[in-house]
Amino acid sequence: MTLTDHFGRSITYLRISVTDRCNLRCVYCLPEKGIEWQARENQLSAEEIARVTASMSQVGVKRIRLTGGEPLVRADIVEIVARLASIPGIEEVSLTTNAMLLEKLAQPLADAGLKRVNISLDTLDADKFKRITRGGEIDRLWRGIAAAESAHLSPIKLNTVVVNGLNADELSALARLTIENPWHVRFIELMPVGNAQNWGAGFPSLIDRYISVQEMQTRLSHYELEPAMTPTGNGPARTFQIPGALGTVGFISPLGEHFCQNCNRLRLTADGFLRPCLLLDGEVNVRGALRANEPLLPLIQNAVDAKPKGHELLSQHYPESRRMAQIGG
Ligand code: SAM
Repeated sequence: MTLTDHFGRSITYLRISVTDRCNLRCVYCLPEKGIEWQARENQLSAEEIARVTASMSQVGVKRIRLTGGEPLVRADIVEIVARLASIPGIEEVSLTTNAMLLEKLAQPLADAGLKRVNISLDTLDADKFKRITRGGEIDRLWRGIAAAESAHLSPIKLNTVVVNGLNADELSALARLTIENPWHVRFIELMPVGNAQNWGAGFPSLIDRYISVQEMQTRLSHYELEPAMTPTGNGPARTFQIPGALGTVGFISPLGEHFCQNCNRLRLTADGFLRPCLLLDGEVNVRGALRANEPLLPLIQNAVDAKPKGHELLSQHYPESRRMAQIGG
């Protein structure tokens, strides 16, 4: 049995937010003082996450990505990976991280069955990194990448949320990383999710922040980017390569159509809700059924049936029930 939604899209991918807590406070993602974190008792245990994943694997889900909040702040993250990686039918477990805790965890995670990591990197400048993340140390990120490479967590993808007046001036320098490193830098448009407020002194105002992938590509035209294969199969990125480079440069345009047309995923929140669409509110509670030992497959099917054709950002219909850190990006 496989999962196909009303628009003919096969659902083979599950993104699991394992916690809403984060050790950073990126300006476009979380307020400086944090948010009202979910109650611990509502957070799914490693065993519960594994049960949802096992049910999903029975209906054709093959790839899992762990995210958050920051997935590496969960004390049992290695156990979660080990449980998921051993589920029959699950071909790949990967993780999205800010890399602050990756140096020590890369090898244990790889030993547990993690295949690869996506790392968020919005700037190459240490001071700016600290400002954007409100306290992050870029040297820890570089050590995390080195540890991921030693542990053969590959390919490494670097995610950059591009914001005018903040880091759009670094597009060229970030793309240049791919020339000598087999890394895949992906430039992502800023999504209007829970970040309309003022970010503080020295940060761009709301109306000045957005830059489209078309504009990003124009700014990188001096590289004469060539179309390239997306490194790990289908995903939301349009992928290119600087001629002769070891890595690739991808563009992710949540506001463009391509993003939804190829959507192959469901999301599971840390407190046990299946979310059919990142950018539209509406969720199916699976925690209740998990804890009552009721079957999960009907709820999984409900979530698939609820997948909309596309998000409605262009008609100014923004998700409001959760922040990005509570969905997992
Ligand atoms: N803590 C991990 C990290 O930093 O990668 C995982 C969670 S984070 C919410 C996942 C991804 O979402 C990050 O790459 C982050 O930059 C991205 N993100 C957060 N808010 C965003 C927004 N408003 N628009 C676009 N991307 C966003």
